[in-house]
Amino acid sequence: MPAAKVKISELAERLGLKEKALKDKIIDLGFELGPKEKTIEKDIADLVESEIESEAQIMEDDDTAEVYDELVSQEIEREIIKSQRKKTAGKKNIKSNTEEEVKNVTESLKGKEVEIPEVISVKEFSEKLDLSVAKVIGELMKNGILANLNQQIDYDTAQIIANEFGAKLKKIHTAGDIEDVMSGNIEKLLAEDEPASLKKRPPVISVMGHVDHGKTKLLDYIRDADVVSTESGGITQHIGAYQVVKNGQKITFLDTPGHEAFTSMRARGAKATDIAILVVASDEGVKPQTIEAINHAKEANIPIIVAINKMDKPNANPEKVKGELVEHGLQPEDWGGQTIMAPVSAMTGQGIPELLDMVLLVAEMQDLKANPNRPAVGTVIEAILDPNLGPVATILINAGILKIGDNVVVGRAYGRIKTMIDHTGKRLKKVSSSDAARISGLSTVPMSGDILQVCANEKTAKEQALMVDTLLKADQWKNRGMGMEEIISQIHKGRLKNLKIVLKADTKGSLEAIRQSLAKIKDDRVAIKIIHAGIGAITEGDVMMASASKGIVFGFHVEENVHVSRLAERENVDIM
Ligand code: GDP
Repeated sequence: MPAAKVKISELAERLGLKEKALKDKIIDLGFELGPKEKTIEKDIADLVESEIESEAQIMEDDDTAEVYDELVSQEIEREIIKSQRKKTAGKKNIKSNTEEEVKNVTESLKGKEVEIPEVISVKEFSEKLDLSVAKVIGELMKNGILANLNQQIDYDTAQIIANEFGAKLKKIHTAGDIEDVMSGNIEKLLAEDEPASLKKRPPVISVMGHVDHGKTKLLDYIRDADVVSTESGGITQHIGAYQVVKNGQKITFLDTPGHEAFTSMRARGAKATDIAILVVASDEGVKPQTIEAINHAKEANIPIIVAINKMDKPNANPEKVKGELVEHGLQPEDWGGQTIMAPVSAMTGQGIPELLDMVLLVAEMQDLKANPNRPAVGTVIEAILDPNLGPVATILINAGILKIGDNVVVGRAYGRIKTMIDHTGKRLKKVSSSDAARISGLSTVPMSGDILQVCANEKTAKEQALMVDTLLKADQWKNRGMGMEEIISQIHKGRLKNLKIVLKADTKGSLEAIRQSLAKIKDDRVAIKIIHAGIGAITEGDVMMASASKGIVFGFHVEENVHVSRLAERENVDIM
């Protein structure tokens, strides 16, 4: 079958170029084109088109230095590709030429199993397959990928190329590999540590609850009342986390109140919180966000301590609050249940020392430990571009000790730790498990929930960051929700035992009716679990909750706005 052709004039029109300019461009890209040629092969047209578009994309970028760097590196890439292409004789027919070569090598590779990591450079991949780089680049080109020998390709791309050569690929899984760096699969990463190496670490606390119930005030009170840090430092810095000392023991607070931050971190696979403090105003009682917060903490499987706040108010009614909490599955300790409920006032400070004692008690029962003697692993709490320091990130250390001068990879960022400060602005030389510090020295701003890992040297850190970048660009990485199709497939495979549903309905009546009919569905393979139910429109919070729990959102006679739909799409959450 003759190869499909594209008219040069039509392509030029589509790209907004003069025909002559396009012809020059095609020749410039290394393809042979006679002066009388009116058409080119479709494969070549596609390559030229994507090349021109990607150039245009870069031109839109407003950072001149970056644009320049990018253009230079693209030029180098192009030169390499061009030279590779010229090596394959008879340029006009790259395809058939490569196919001949494929035939030659298939025999030697037939059935051969080659182990490669999640992401690999073209050069390394060629070496693994024992092929010339030119052959691999040629094959990549056939698949519409212009790559030079140092470019990283992801596993799926490598798989396609390997198939063409008849080789079988196997993914190398190492502890602490790319998945962990990206996904925040921190539990797996930390599971490398021998139990004997673990030492006690401070608890990390998130404060959640309904709006205006006093989360911020409570966090401020606890921080300001902490004598140890107040004495040691300068001006309070809001870095997203702070640490206080109570009875000689450290407690770390994440000071972005509310469950949005908590859930979005969890949706990214990060595990940054050990205990949730649920703030409930004693004069208002349980409200919709109180219930959401309870469900978030339950889903994350972390203990809840209730702070019944605003006890200074004349209409404070803690017993009523406890009664309402019972309805949502939290049994107060003094009523014979499991949940500690401490009456406090974030205004006067009443009850706060006792609340902190309770935090230490629950932490003790949790037996929180980490290995201090390992390359540090941490989680990004927040990150910004500082006008003086460049990209900075607040890191919560999960294990190990992070030091000035350490080479690190943090998501797609890498760098060498230049400075570290705590929430009092004090400069630190090192930080250990459960401590938080704002670090500088990164190549770019990471995302909250990204995992930090210390690397042996800058080269490794850079390579790893590049891998992450490649994977993100290829959108291969989906550590987010599961779409309905995937959920069904997982149920069939017996891998998913619970179908988790966030249920929203227009009225209380319909909510209850649906809840009851869902409860009646019996299936041996899967149990339906409603992780959150509420009345009203589907919110971003609902989507994030489903995403974090790999579930779906089920709405009855309710709608979602366009932001919510977009978020659902991005998070790969189905709204039914
Ligand atoms: P958040 O939305 O949960 O962070 O609530 P805030 O901390 O912003 O508090 C909401 C309002 O309640 C503010 O006006 C606070 O001053 C007030 N507030 C917070 N805690 C207390 C308290 O213990 N007693 C009294 N009387 N007011 C409080």
